[in-house]
Amino acid sequence: MSIQGVHLISGEDVSGQGSLRAINPSSGEILEPIFPEASSENIDVAVGAALSVHEERAAADPQKRAQLLEAAAERIDAIGSEITERGMQETGLPQARFEGERGRTCHQLRLFASVVREGLFQNPIIETALAQRQPLPRPDLRTRMQAIGPVAVFGASNFPLAFGIAGGDTASAWAAGCPVIAKGHPAHPGVCELVGRALQEAVRDVGLPAGMFSLLQGESFDVGTGLIKHPGIRAVAFTGSRAGGLSLWRLANGREVPIPVFAEMGSTNPVFILPAAMQQRGQQIAEGLAGSVRLGVGQFCTCPGVVVILSDENTASFKDELRQSLCDEPVGTMLHKGIHGGYENAVDQLSARNGVKVIARGPAGDDVCGVGASLLQVDFKNFIADPAMQGEVFGPATLLVECHSLEEINDVARALEGQLTATVHATEDEIAELSSLLHLLEDRVGRLVFNDFPTGVEVGESMQHGGPWPATTDSRWTSVGAAAIQRFLRPVCWQGFPDGALPEELRSGAVGMRRIDGAWQEFGNS
Ligand code: NAP
Repeated sequence: MSIQGVHLISGEDVSGQGSLRAINPSSGEILEPIFPEASSENIDVAVGAALSVHEERAAADPQKRAQLLEAAAERIDAIGSEITERGMQETGLPQARFEGERGRTCHQLRLFASVVREGLFQNPIIETALAQRQPLPRPDLRTRMQAIGPVAVFGASNFPLAFGIAGGDTASAWAAGCPVIAKGHPAHPGVCELVGRALQEAVRDVGLPAGMFSLLQGESFDVGTGLIKHPGIRAVAFTGSRAGGLSLWRLANGREVPIPVFAEMGSTNPVFILPAAMQQRGQQIAEGLAGSVRLGVGQFCTCPGVVVILSDENTASFKDELRQSLCDEPVGTMLHKGIHGGYENAVDQLSARNGVKVIARGPAGDDVCGVGASLLQVDFKNFIADPAMQGEVFGPATLLVECHSLEEINDVARALEGQLTATVHATEDEIAELSSLLHLLEDRVGRLVFNDFPTGVEVGESMQHGGPWPATTDSRWTSVGAAAIQRFLRPVCWQGFPDGALPEELRSGAVGMRRIDGAWQEFGNS
């Protein structure tokens, strides 16, 4: 399948003017073709088609949606080698990473197919009429979750597949019954077109209206801002930088009709290493930590960017091991020049903050966007006094925060802003004594990790990938795992309607689990 350099709007290839080209971050080579910049007319057509699908309830059949999600996974798998080949050129990520991420992406799509088939996400609740109730009769009340409407999806550069055009946001929006308009990422427009075409074909395969999916390409903020301002858009799913997420959140809240923005941004994912664990496993923790910081060239939202330790006789050997494992060798190639420059800049700025010392900056290697890891340290007092030290350094860097007592460790936890994750390394005896630390952390994160590392996010039913502001714009939701579907649903109560006029799952003979007059009941097919 050749890459045309087009938008994919409601089933059509649409060309246009533009100058966007992908660049190979290893060699600096400029890749063909040129991609167009979406115009306001393109946005209008894409959103208009999506809105028609929504208003006509054309994607209301859950079976069809499950088939759509499975067809999308099949279509993506069928062009796996092309996606990998182009993706490696556009991002510098290795083959194994692309193949692994494709596996995760197709797993997510299939997971949501099973969520749709199971039907529990609709949460049907029925309270039957009580005509004789005194002092007032109760009407018949039936509530279930319904699709919120067209969703704008913004993917991140660091997960071109799993958080991209066909990532968890599109999968969960489709599962909820919402049409999607995806904004292509300018760092990997070719991958966006390949994957977008697979989604477009999946829509056709199962006979849903073409407006169920559109892909708009572009490199200026105008495409994203135009999309968010469009009155037909009902929700936004964003994965990316804090600056980007917050700017889109402000825009959405400034609309005449504000809409929710589910922005998943970065955080520093602090790791707390308690003294007995340090004494027993200091070297092993240092090696594991270095591996976690270096993973994906540090370009993970879960990269551990802050490490809190208690200074004692074991810390010198820990630091030494960490410095060697982290910084002795180049880490790899960053995704693009912007991220590469941003990393070097962020490390320079952090190094200049009050009390910060650079322990090591590793060699960068020969690639255009090659980098080395950075290990820095600071005393807990300076860390607490300077919130700027909590900003995400997107890349392979970590800041050791040295404390001198368990109280100081708690003080650091208390000073933390919202995080995606926090990790604790401790012995079981130690952790039993430290409920206060866990209480502080539980209040500030979406996921707590014990004696492990935060990178590597399982996609399942119990995953929570999101945390308090500013890690995300709304900590009640997750962008990873089955619960992500809840973001694109809203409850509607039907009062007093005859059976035939109700949505399918609220009718008397509907199959599946429903809560009726205060008790859960399951109805079969017979
Ligand atoms: P990014 O620069 O914020 O870009 C993400 C997308 O948003 C791009 O399509 C970008 O388009 C668009 N965008 C950004 N700012 C915008 C604005 N002001 N107006 C309109 N559109 C805007 O992020 P990235 O560099 O691709 O991704 C890396 C970041 O994502 C890191 O901070 C990482 O921690 C975070 N991340 C978070 C998660 C999570 O689940 N929490 C997962 C992966 C990554 P343009 O490029 O055209 O600006």
